[in-house]
Amino acid sequence: MSRSILNREWHAANRMPANATHEQRLAWHAGHAANCACREMPAAIRAELERRGMMPEKLATRHADSRD
Ligand SMILES: [Zn+2]
Repeated sequence: MSRSILNREWHAANRMPANATHEQRLAWHAGHAANCACREMPAAIRAELERRGMMPEKLATRHADSRD
């Protein structure tokens, strides 16, 4: 449980602007989910990325594999 899931290098290179637009948030979360697992993607962001076909492949797979 103590294994780090934070991708420090990605976060250092991809700072979310303080006044990020909705489009910037979508792009940030898509990139974040593909490179780091430090926190869950908000449900509203996930839904919009899936609707746009922007969801990273590995997340879509993990979502489909859920037994719930
Ligand atoms: Zn992260």
